Amino acid sequence: MAEVELSHVTKAFGEQAAAVNDVSFTAGAGDFVALLGPSGCGKSTTLRLIAGLETSTGGVIRIGGRDVTGAAPAERGISMVFQSYALFPHLSVRQNIVFGLEVRGVEKQERARRLERAVEILGLGPYLDRKPSQLSGGQQQRVALGRAIVAETPVCLMDEPLSNLDAQLRLEMRREIRALQRRLGLTLIYVTHDQVEAMTMADRIVLMNAGRIEQYGTPEELYDRPATIFTARFVGTPPMNVLPVTALGEAAAHYGSRGLELAKVSLGVRPEAVRLSDDGIHASVTAVEYLGADCLLEARIGDHAIVARIPGKFTAGAGETVRLAFDASAVHHFDSETGRRIQ
Ligand code: ATP
Repeated sequence: MAEVELSHVTKAFGEQAAAVNDVSFTAGAGDFVALLGPSGCGKSTTLRLIAGLETSTGGVIRIGGRDVTGAAPAERGISMVFQSYALFPHLSVRQNIVFGLEVRGVEKQERARRLERAVEILGLGPYLDRKPSQLSGGQQQRVALGRAIVAETPVCLMDEPLSNLDAQLRLEMRREIRALQRRLGLTLIYVTHDQVEAMTMADRIVLMNAGRIEQYGTPEELYDRPATIFTARFVGTPPMNVLPVTALGEAAAHYGSRGLELAKVSLGVRPEAVRLSDDGIHASVTAVEYLGADCLLEARIGDHAIVARIPGKFTAGAGETVRLAFDASAVHHFDSETGRRIQ
């Protein structure tokens, strides 16, 4: 098992703003860490820097306590699984899995041992002589995982490995990868733009935005105590409602009551914490979406949109007035200018 540590890592491509900007975090040995964030935020570049496929323009990367900042990919003790799988079309499943071992000169008996173990773990036995084109997407994905398993490195890096699979298979593979990571004791760094994937799979999440880390913490920490408005709105579906406290009119004093200067405070409340209440704030319905177990009620408080998750069935026409309330204890406060959480 090995820890992966990034310290002030930066990567700029030419004259552009840094794609990865002063990123520091440590993935503990045996941890599953997701790199999460919107398209273009620098997730893949961060992963490629750890892999040694890109050269950093600043900072230090350590794997298992060893400075690998300038080391070649093969010297880092990592395996990698790509979104595209990167399988060789002309080679069989067996050949694809052991290819990297042959290149590294691992002897035949040892190759056979590792192959057998990976095949057993992944259930690839019946497919060993097929070509990738004769496999389903899920089976191809397993071959790519097989390659990473036989490398027997303490650290594995994965870049959106499930994005080519359909929804059902993605669910299954999420569990499989998680189980595999635990079983092998891998330190796994996993790139995804899918917050549900990150929330359900990872021990800890690095949430990135425009090249920087927005927050690093457990899924519960990001959900329950978002450090910024960005985190608050990125984690959770539908996203947290964020509106200026002053939009609440007379109720503002109640929800902002912490000696805060209300004009500069934004209030965050999750849709599931908003309820209908006879003495609540007046809101005008814009739409109701029926989901089965509950409804999403979309409304406006003045100029500001708000979404409430109402249990069971609820009907209201657009333009109707409802009254909404939430517990003060369920409210998050943010500085409207910096976007940072106010304790
Ligand atoms: P996605 O989810 O869309 O893959 P990402 O979060 O993985 O996005 P990166 O691929 O790391 O983002 O890209 C971060 C930024 O760096 C982007 O603005 C991208 O255009 C830029 N970038 C990435 N690779 C290169 C490159 N080789 N040359 C120039 N710019 C690059």
